[in-house]
Amino acid sequence: MGAYADMSREELQREYDAAAAKFEELKSRGLKLNMARGKPGKAQLDMVSEGLFSVMNRPEDYISDGVDCRNYGELAGLPAARRLFAEILGCRAEQVIVGGNASLQLMYDAISKAVTHGLLHSPRPWCKEEKVKWLCPAPGYDRHFKVTESFGFELITIPMTPDGPDMDAVEAAIADPAVKGMWNVPKYSNPQGYVYSDETIRRIASMKPAAPDFMLMWDNAYCIHEFRGEFAEFPDILSECEKYGNGDMAYEFASTSKVTLPGAGISCMAASEANIAYFLKLMGIQIISYDKVNQQRHVLYLKDKAHTLELMKKHAEIMAPKFRTVVDALEREIAPLGIAGWNDPRGGYFVSLDAMPGTAKRTLALCKEAGVTMTGAGATFPYGVDPDDSNIRIAPSLPPVEELQQAIEVLCTCLKLSAAEKLLAEKQ
Ligand code: PLP
Repeated sequence: MGAYADMSREELQREYDAAAAKFEELKSRGLKLNMARGKPGKAQLDMVSEGLFSVMNRPEDYISDGVDCRNYGELAGLPAARRLFAEILGCRAEQVIVGGNASLQLMYDAISKAVTHGLLHSPRPWCKEEKVKWLCPAPGYDRHFKVTESFGFELITIPMTPDGPDMDAVEAAIADPAVKGMWNVPKYSNPQGYVYSDETIRRIASMKPAAPDFMLMWDNAYCIHEFRGEFAEFPDILSECEKYGNGDMAYEFASTSKVTLPGAGISCMAASEANIAYFLKLMGIQIISYDKVNQQRHVLYLKDKAHTLELMKKHAEIMAPKFRTVVDALEREIAPLGIAGWNDPRGGYFVSLDAMPGTAKRTLALCKEAGVTMTGAGATFPYGVDPDDSNIRIAPSLPPVEELQQAIEVLCTCLKLSAAEKLLAEKQ
């Protein structure tokens, strides 16, 4: 079997016919499988809930550093929860606000405050600006892009490289004072699983944007989420920015959504102490305090960074075989045909696949027809439009391995079918 590009029309037609027959067979199985979102699987949730819900039994379990977590107070979060996130992120506890059950909400809220009230160094609230533009390294996280799109910002696509965003493009773009911020998932990026290089981080931390209130959104959602190999240390963006006189530029986010329970975990925003003071003043109007009972449950369950990393190893034992299943199938079925490329990440929640340009939508429509739901084509790009119609995000975490094997078989078959279809049409 050779690469599709080198095949004659007859050879391609044979490939197409074989894939079409396989597709009909798969369709007849009546599958109902989902590789759409990065959700932990049931085994992970069972493992966590067993421990998480048995740590608070005695009255003294509700008291932390003298604070009764059942009552109002401590808007910035339980001191012990602030210390826990600070240790994990490598910053200081005073730089951390521990929020509610979702970091996405903290991100939305931070940007929303920039729009309504402005940031510490804003000449005016962003709603008074004629235009706000935002840098979106892509492929990236669809929900990030939607947040900034929802506020009417103009989204500018920045190409992603294995070392992080194309910094030449970033440095050129930030000369425009209308460019107010940038999304980042610096470790095990969503979807490619790329880790920003030290050089990229240095260039980001030392940027001199024309906007005085440039907002570096540093979503460290996968900061401890290795599923292969050891935990990899990662620079603390707050002190990196401080080094270059940019201490107030970075807003870092993280959560336990994929450490404990998504939707029932705890989240944090870390920023300079000046920014934390500024945000606490604004937040104090909208909330008296976040759910400190859940913060305390997490402090008692996770304990400290070392203990949290042990838990992440247990997650890794469940996750690694799932990623292996996906990547092995692609290597076996697709690599020889030369019709797609993909990454083989060490952490995070996704495999990013680049199909033959012009075939991603068709491939995913075929998958759907065969009962496999995937993240929509284009979702990884600003405005949901992939200019090459090529990128496909695979989320292997939710289905058990046996289901995943079937789902990936469907995906491989659909990739072959759509590629052969396109090449045959071109040879007409
Ligand atoms: N950030 C990234 C990069 C994600 O991939 C996800 C979930 O997939 C989130 C944030 C959501 O996090 P949370 O549950 O804390 O809102």
